[in-house]
Amino acid sequence: MKIRFLGTAAAEGIPAMFCHCDNCERARKAGGRNIRTRFQTLIDGKLNIDFPADAYMHELAYGLNYADIRYYLFTHVHEDHYYPLDFNYIYHGLGHVAPDHPGYDVYGSEDILPGLQSLEHSGDMDYLRLHTLRPYETADVGGYQVTPLRSNHGTPNPYSYIISDGSRTILYLHDTGILPEASLSYLLDHGRHFDLVSYDCTGGNYEHLDYTSHLCFREIREYTQLFKEKALIDDHTVLVLNHFSHNSPDVNYDDRKVYEDLGYLMAYDGLELELR
Ligand SMILES: [Zn+2]
Ligand SMILES: [Zn+2]
Ligand SMILES: [Zn+2]
Repeated sequence: MKIRFLGTAAAEGIPAMFCHCDNCERARKAGGRNIRTRFQTLIDGKLNIDFPADAYMHELAYGLNYADIRYYLFTHVHEDHYYPLDFNYIYHGLGHVAPDHPGYDVYGSEDILPGLQSLEHSGDMDYLRLHTLRPYETADVGGYQVTPLRSNHGTPNPYSYIISDGSRTILYLHDTGILPEASLSYLLDHGRHFDLVSYDCTGGNYEHLDYTSHLCFREIREYTQLFKEKALIDDHTVLVLNHFSHNSPDVNYDDRKVYEDLGYLMAYDGLELELR
């Protein structure tokens, strides 16, 4: 399984628009991996997770063509993950594909429906198929086994995901604060081994977060300890920190040593990992 992190920032990006904070000024000056765009991930070039306004820029930057990607999975409907307006361009008068093109399958909680069903061309697009997933029920999404876990986040029905290709399994914790009890129980009771965990590190290296809808590094370390105790992860599991915000400490790529010294990988835009 190959995982490519196309965008690794929270909603404002780093540097953020309209911002003069220290993190943003440092990122502007340093450039390179210190620049983070809005959140999107691609698995094996064929399962796309989330579709922010920066999706078009990611298509250009990484040499992608969304006409070649059939499966789209959404975590939740905040705008840094869900920008449905661009799906209008799937309409066959606006995006041109061969007559035997398979179309597109879009998955998420019921929250994804209103924005996609109200697109200007949605009534004319039988090749844009919407599928709702139920929490804790594993579904086949483009050949991957995908299990939604309820997240603790500021939208009606946000999901984190367990995603497996039958050989490798990842735990994708975006976006969420401290997990709801039902999700933590599901993880502990089902005892799966994860080859990679991508953690919501919006709080950066804070020891404590005042808001509940994201995690900080201290909380992440506690989850890692628990997951290790329960044998959900081991020393071979890749621990990725992701979804950084300029409002938190140690969130620029130049700060990565803070995390790497403790065995974590700090994601950056374009990072590709292969799980063998
Ligand atoms: Zn987000
Ligand atoms: Zn800033
Ligand atoms: Zn969010």
